[in-house]
Amino acid sequence: RLTAVWVQDWMERAHAVFAAERVALIELDRAIGDGDHGENMDRGMTAVAKRLAADAETSQETPTPAALLKTVATTVMANVGGAAGPLFGTAFLRAAKATDSVSAPDGELDGHAVATALEAALGGLQSRGKAEVGEKTMVDAWAPAAQAAREAAEAGGDATAVLAAAAHAAEEGADATVPMIATKGRASYLGPRSAGYRDPGAVSTVLLLRTATEAAL
Ligand code: ADP
Ligand code: MG
Ligand code: MG
Repeated sequence: RLTAVWVQDWMERAHAVFAAERVALIELDRAIGDGDHGENMDRGMTAVAKRLAADAETSQETPTPAALLKTVATTVMANVGGAAGPLFGTAFLRAAKATDSVSAPDGELDGHAVATALEAALGGLQSRGKAEVGEKTMVDAWAPAAQAAREAAEAGGDATAVLAAAAHAAEEGADATVPMIATKGRASYLGPRSAGYRDPGAVSTVLLLRTATEAAL
Protein backbone atom coordinates (compact mmCIF):
# COMPACT_ATOMS: atom_id res chain seq x y z
CA ARG A 1 0.00 0.00 0.00
CA LEU A 2 1.32 3.37 -1.05
CA THR A 3 0.84 5.32 2.17
CA ALA A 4 3.11 7.61 4.19
CA VAL A 5 4.98 4.53 5.44
CA TRP A 6 5.77 3.70 1.82
CA VAL A 7 7.37 7.12 1.25
CA GLN A 8 9.42 6.71 4.45
CA ASP A 9 10.54 3.22 3.44
CA TRP A 10 11.28 4.41 -0.11
CA MET A 11 13.50 7.24 1.11
CA GLU A 12 15.37 4.99 3.54
CA ARG A 13 16.06 2.60 0.68
CA ALA A 14 17.06 5.46 -1.62
CA HIS A 15 19.40 6.77 1.07
CA ALA A 16 21.13 3.37 1.27
CA VAL A 17 21.26 2.87 -2.51
CA PHE A 18 22.67 6.32 -3.27
CA ALA A 19 25.33 5.80 -0.59
CA ALA A 20 26.23 2.47 -2.20
CA GLU A 21 26.20 3.89 -5.76
CA ARG A 22 27.92 7.16 -4.85
CA VAL A 23 31.26 6.29 -6.43
CA ALA A 24 29.69 4.73 -9.54
CA LEU A 25 27.63 7.87 -10.13
CA ILE A 26 30.68 10.06 -9.56
CA GLU A 27 32.54 8.06 -12.20
CA LEU A 28 29.68 8.34 -14.68
CA ASP A 29 29.56 12.10 -14.15
CA ARG A 30 33.34 12.35 -14.34
CA ALA A 31 33.20 10.83 -17.82
CA ILE A 32 30.78 13.38 -19.26
CA GLY A 33 30.33 16.08 -16.59
CA ASP A 34 32.14 17.45 -13.56
CA GLY A 35 32.12 14.34 -11.39
CA ASP A 36 29.89 15.51 -8.58
CA HIS A 37 26.58 13.77 -9.28
CA GLY A 38 27.15 10.87 -6.86
CA GLU A 39 28.18 13.32 -4.15
CA ASN A 40 25.16 15.54 -4.84
CA MET A 41 22.64 12.69 -4.67
CA ASP A 42 24.23 11.03 -1.65
CA ARG A 43 24.21 14.32 0.28
CA GLY A 44 20.63 15.01 -0.76
CA MET A 45 19.22 11.60 0.12
CA THR A 46 21.04 11.62 3.45
CA ALA A 47 19.32 14.93 4.24
CA VAL A 48 15.95 13.54 3.13
CA ALA A 49 16.21 10.39 5.26
CA LYS A 50 17.27 12.46 8.26
CA ARG A 51 14.47 14.97 7.81
CA LEU A 52 11.75 12.30 7.42
CA ALA A 53 13.02 10.43 10.47
CA ALA A 54 13.03 13.63 12.53
CA ASP A 55 9.52 14.54 11.35
CA ALA A 56 8.20 11.05 12.15
CA GLU A 57 9.65 11.40 15.64
CA THR A 58 7.93 14.71 16.40
CA SER A 59 4.64 14.71 14.48
CA GLN A 60 1.45 13.54 16.18
CA GLU A 61 -0.79 12.55 13.27
CA THR A 62 0.06 10.36 10.28
CA PRO A 63 0.89 12.45 7.20
CA THR A 64 -0.32 11.71 3.67
CA PRO A 65 2.15 10.50 1.03
CA ALA A 66 1.61 13.82 -0.78
CA ALA A 67 2.69 15.79 2.30
CA LEU A 68 5.84 13.67 2.67
CA LEU A 69 6.65 13.99 -1.04
CA LYS A 70 6.50 17.75 -0.59
CA THR A 71 9.02 17.53 2.26
CA VAL A 72 11.21 15.35 0.05
CA ALA A 73 10.98 17.96 -2.72
CA THR A 74 12.06 20.91 -0.58
CA THR A 75 14.84 18.89 1.08
CA VAL A 76 16.14 17.70 -2.30
CA MET A 77 16.09 21.26 -3.66
CA ALA A 78 18.00 22.57 -0.66
CA ASN A 79 20.58 19.78 -0.45
CA VAL A 80 21.29 18.07 -3.78
CA GLY A 81 22.67 21.11 -5.61
CA GLY A 82 24.00 21.14 -9.18
CA ALA A 83 21.56 20.79 -12.06
CA ALA A 84 20.00 17.67 -10.59
CA GLY A 85 18.81 19.30 -7.34
CA PRO A 86 16.28 21.75 -8.81
CA LEU A 87 15.25 19.19 -11.43
CA PHE A 88 14.55 16.27 -9.06
CA GLY A 89 13.17 18.77 -6.53
CA THR A 90 10.66 20.08 -9.05
CA ALA A 91 9.77 16.52 -10.08
CA PHE A 92 8.97 15.58 -6.46
CA LEU A 93 7.09 18.83 -5.90
CA ARG A 94 4.86 18.33 -8.93
CA ALA A 95 4.28 14.70 -7.97
CA ALA A 96 3.26 15.87 -4.50
CA LYS A 97 0.85 18.46 -5.90
CA ALA A 98 -0.62 15.99 -8.38
CA THR A 99 -1.41 13.51 -5.61
CA ASP A 100 -2.59 16.05 -3.05
CA SER A 101 -6.25 15.57 -3.99
CA VAL A 102 -6.23 11.76 -3.71
CA SER A 103 -9.40 10.97 -1.79
CA ALA A 104 -8.41 7.88 0.21
CA PRO A 105 -8.50 8.81 3.93
CA ASP A 106 -4.77 8.23 4.41
CA GLY A 107 -3.97 9.58 0.93
CA GLU A 108 -3.04 6.11 -0.34
CA LEU A 109 -2.02 6.15 -4.01
CA ASP A 110 -3.48 3.67 -6.49
CA GLY A 111 -2.05 2.79 -9.90
CA HIS A 112 -3.69 5.75 -11.63
CA ALA A 113 -2.39 8.15 -8.99
CA VAL A 114 1.13 6.81 -9.47
CA ALA A 115 0.88 7.35 -13.23
CA THR A 116 -0.47 10.86 -12.68
CA ALA A 117 2.37 11.61 -10.25
CA LEU A 118 5.02 10.42 -12.70
CA GLU A 119 3.51 12.41 -15.57
CA ALA A 120 3.45 15.51 -13.36
CA ALA A 121 7.07 14.89 -12.33
CA LEU A 122 8.11 14.68 -15.96
CA GLY A 123 6.20 17.86 -16.80
CA GLY A 124 7.89 19.65 -13.92
CA LEU A 125 11.42 18.75 -14.83
CA GLN A 126 10.81 19.53 -18.49
CA SER A 127 9.37 22.94 -17.65
CA ARG A 128 12.50 23.63 -15.63
CA GLY A 129 15.20 22.04 -17.79
CA LYS A 130 13.65 22.39 -21.25
CA ALA A 131 15.07 19.05 -22.37
CA GLU A 132 13.25 16.75 -24.78
CA VAL A 133 13.68 13.02 -25.21
CA GLY A 134 16.96 12.22 -27.01
CA GLU A 135 19.10 14.97 -25.43
CA LYS A 136 20.85 12.56 -23.05
CA THR A 137 19.38 13.74 -19.75
CA MET A 138 17.20 12.31 -17.00
CA VAL A 139 14.21 13.05 -19.27
CA ASP A 140 15.27 9.98 -21.26
CA ALA A 141 14.49 7.84 -18.21
CA TRP A 142 11.46 9.78 -16.88
CA ALA A 143 9.57 10.01 -20.18
CA PRO A 144 9.39 6.26 -20.90
CA ALA A 145 8.73 5.66 -17.19
CA ALA A 146 5.72 7.98 -17.17
CA GLN A 147 4.38 6.44 -20.37
CA ALA A 148 4.83 2.86 -19.13
CA ALA A 149 3.17 3.81 -15.85
CA ARG A 150 0.11 5.19 -17.63
CA GLU A 151 -0.13 2.07 -19.82
CA ALA A 152 0.14 -0.23 -16.80
CA ALA A 153 -2.52 1.78 -14.94
CA GLU A 154 -4.87 1.67 -17.95
CA ALA A 155 -4.35 -2.07 -18.10
CA GLY A 156 -5.61 -2.29 -14.52
CA GLY A 157 -2.28 -2.65 -12.76
CA ASP A 158 -2.16 -1.90 -9.06
CA ALA A 159 0.22 0.73 -7.66
CA THR A 160 3.10 -1.73 -7.28
CA ALA A 161 2.70 -3.04 -10.83
CA VAL A 162 2.62 0.51 -12.18
CA LEU A 163 5.81 1.42 -10.29
CA ALA A 164 7.52 -1.75 -11.48
CA ALA A 165 6.59 -0.97 -15.09
CA ALA A 166 7.94 2.57 -14.67
CA ALA A 167 11.21 1.37 -13.15
CA HIS A 168 11.70 -1.16 -15.95
CA ALA A 169 11.04 1.45 -18.65
CA ALA A 170 13.39 3.93 -16.94
CA GLU A 171 16.13 1.32 -16.99
CA GLU A 172 15.72 0.81 -20.74
CA GLY A 173 15.59 4.58 -21.16
CA ALA A 174 18.83 5.06 -19.22
CA ASP A 175 20.54 2.35 -21.29
CA ALA A 176 19.35 4.09 -24.45
CA THR A 177 21.28 7.24 -23.45
CA VAL A 178 24.63 5.47 -24.10
CA PRO A 179 24.92 6.28 -27.82
CA MET A 180 23.29 9.70 -27.47
CA ILE A 181 25.18 12.98 -27.86
CA ALA A 182 24.24 15.38 -25.08
CA THR A 183 22.65 18.65 -26.12
CA LYS A 184 21.55 19.83 -22.65
CA GLY A 185 23.42 20.19 -19.37
CA ARG A 186 27.14 20.05 -18.71
CA ALA A 187 27.68 16.96 -20.86
CA SER A 188 26.70 19.00 -23.94
CA TYR A 189 30.06 20.83 -23.65
CA LEU A 190 31.68 17.57 -24.78
CA GLY A 191 29.66 17.36 -27.99
CA PRO A 192 30.16 14.01 -29.76
CA ARG A 193 32.58 12.89 -27.02
CA SER A 194 29.59 12.57 -24.67
CA ALA A 195 28.54 9.43 -26.56
CA GLY A 196 29.48 6.05 -25.05
CA TYR A 197 28.27 6.60 -21.48
CA ARG A 198 24.97 6.44 -19.63
CA ASP A 199 23.66 9.78 -18.45
CA PRO A 200 24.18 10.01 -14.65
CA GLY A 201 20.83 11.70 -13.99
CA ALA A 202 19.03 9.01 -15.97
CA VAL A 203 20.78 6.34 -13.87
CA SER A 204 19.73 8.14 -10.68
CA THR A 205 16.16 8.18 -11.96
CA VAL A 206 16.33 4.39 -12.29
CA LEU A 207 17.59 4.12 -8.70
CA LEU A 208 14.73 6.29 -7.44
CA LEU A 209 12.05 4.33 -9.29
CA ARG A 210 13.57 0.98 -8.37
CA THR A 211 13.64 1.81 -4.67
CA ALA A 212 10.08 3.16 -4.94
CA THR A 213 9.03 -0.22 -6.33
CA GLU A 214 10.93 -2.22 -3.71
CA ALA A 215 9.30 -0.20 -0.93
CA ALA A 216 5.89 -1.02 -2.40
CA LEU A 217 6.40 -4.80 -2.55
P1 ADP B 1 25.80 19.42 -12.57
O1 ADP B 1 25.71 19.05 -14.02
O2 ADP B 1 25.37 20.82 -12.29
O3 ADP B 1 27.13 19.07 -11.99
P2 ADP B 1 24.68 16.93 -11.54
O4 ADP B 1 25.99 16.35 -11.91
O5 ADP B 1 24.22 16.68 -10.16
O6 ADP B 1 24.69 18.51 -11.81
O7 ADP B 1 23.53 16.42 -12.50
C1 ADP B 1 23.76 16.16 -13.86
C2 ADP B 1 22.52 15.56 -14.48
O8 ADP B 1 21.50 16.54 -14.57
C3 ADP B 1 22.71 15.07 -15.88
O9 ADP B 1 23.19 13.75 -15.90
C4 ADP B 1 21.30 15.17 -16.48
O10 ADP B 1 20.56 13.97 -16.29
C5 ADP B 1 20.66 16.23 -15.65
N1 ADP B 1 20.43 17.45 -16.44
C6 ADP B 1 21.29 18.45 -16.69
N2 ADP B 1 20.69 19.41 -17.43
C7 ADP B 1 19.41 18.99 -17.65
C8 ADP B 1 18.27 19.54 -18.32
N3 ADP B 1 18.32 20.73 -18.92
N4 ADP B 1 17.13 18.82 -18.33
C9 ADP B 1 17.07 17.62 -17.71
N5 ADP B 1 18.10 17.06 -17.05
C10 ADP B 1 19.25 17.73 -17.02
MG1 MG C 1 27.85 17.09 -12.20
MG1 MG D 1 28.31 20.21 -10.65
